[in-house]
Amino acid sequence: MNMADSERLESAMSQLGLKNVVDAENADVIVLNSCVVRQSAEDRVVGNLTRLAPLKVDKPDRIFALMGCMVGPKTHELHKAFPHVDVFMRPQEFDPLIDLISERKNIDKEGCLSILEAKPAVSTYVPIIHGCDKFCTFCIIPYRRGREKSRSPEELVKEAEMLVQRGVKEITLLGQNVDSYGHDLEGDIELGFLFKEIAAVEGLKRIRFLTSHPNDMSENIIGSIASLEKVCEHINLPVQAGSDSVLYNMRRGYTRDQYLDKIDQIRRLVPNVSLSTDVIVGFCGESDEDFNETLDIIKSVRFDKVHAAVYSNRPGTIAARKFDNDVPDDVKKDRFITLETVQKQISAEINEGYMNSIQEVLVESVDNRKAKGRSRNDKIVHFEGSQNLIGEIVQVKISKTGPWSLQGNIVSKAKLLLTVES
Ligand code: SF4
Repeated sequence: MNMADSERLESAMSQLGLKNVVDAENADVIVLNSCVVRQSAEDRVVGNLTRLAPLKVDKPDRIFALMGCMVGPKTHELHKAFPHVDVFMRPQEFDPLIDLISERKNIDKEGCLSILEAKPAVSTYVPIIHGCDKFCTFCIIPYRRGREKSRSPEELVKEAEMLVQRGVKEITLLGQNVDSYGHDLEGDIELGFLFKEIAAVEGLKRIRFLTSHPNDMSENIIGSIASLEKVCEHINLPVQAGSDSVLYNMRRGYTRDQYLDKIDQIRRLVPNVSLSTDVIVGFCGESDEDFNETLDIIKSVRFDKVHAAVYSNRPGTIAARKFDNDVPDDVKKDRFITLETVQKQISAEINEGYMNSIQEVLVESVDNRKAKGRSRNDKIVHFEGSQNLIGEIVQVKISKTGPWSLQGNIVSKAKLLLTVES
């Protein structure tokens, strides 16, 4: 979501005539887009804000802006801590910065508000629902990004059409809880419906979506993934923990068995699906047995990828108020390493299964003839290729695999047909 916000702000700023520079020292405007989902992320933002402060002394008219989830209800405290910051913006509230730049540059800001004018990448993000209504006990997001608010299908289709006209081939539909899209809109609108509408946009090659919640991933949504050619067979379905008591304390709203049933249902309806998940290690009160249950889910489901994070207390969350039984740091670290080691082996084994297969890859970048793209299953694929392939879907025969990516060589269509026929 932050990447999507940054892309949109960057487009708006380029409409104001601003260009990217490599070093902060040479910038007239410095924007930090902050994430507070974990303590380490927040620490990095604070570190950068402190490190960059002397640049304001060197050039007082340089504009400093802090945006994103760090900007919450206590902005006055941020003002005090970082007096060199001129503008504080909550997520998706770009106006204060746009206004200030327009004022300084003495230009009309209206022109820059068509934030899609700049040329986007081959693959880009489109937020379809903002905020979250779930209030998991560990999570700060509902307090910072607010309650769920869906964008209208008409607006989204129009945006998809504009993006395609500007060269986009793949769109990732974004939401903190993307599966609850449409529940606040009138009519029978949900994610499956939106998939169909967006899939009808001519020239768009692929649709992805992030992030799902097991309770809101309906059979209709899963069926749409299976039936619509443009929707890629990859689902990120956060489990967060494998033990019922930890899931209860996290207020996730499902049990271990219900989660596993959902995985079965997905695999039944979308046979070639690849699955990833998010896990929090060391949540308040997590015992060795609880952690082993998480490990057990990881081993039994065999996800393609696991995004693991060590739990950190987030002031303002329910967990911060309610629980004080934090797991010691060294125990959290050991569990994290154990989980990562197990998952690395599983990812490597799953990827080995792609050896000698032919993958449909959307080429996203080429640097020095080193092309990179993603398969429908969200595998990163490296191969040799030329610049003119960017934005094309090519067939790549996999010749080397590892836990994090695949490598291969482009095969021509003729060769592919021969392979299939033989
Ligand atoms: S569903 Fe996701 S974004 Fe919403 S509160 Fe839970 S963890 Fe946070």
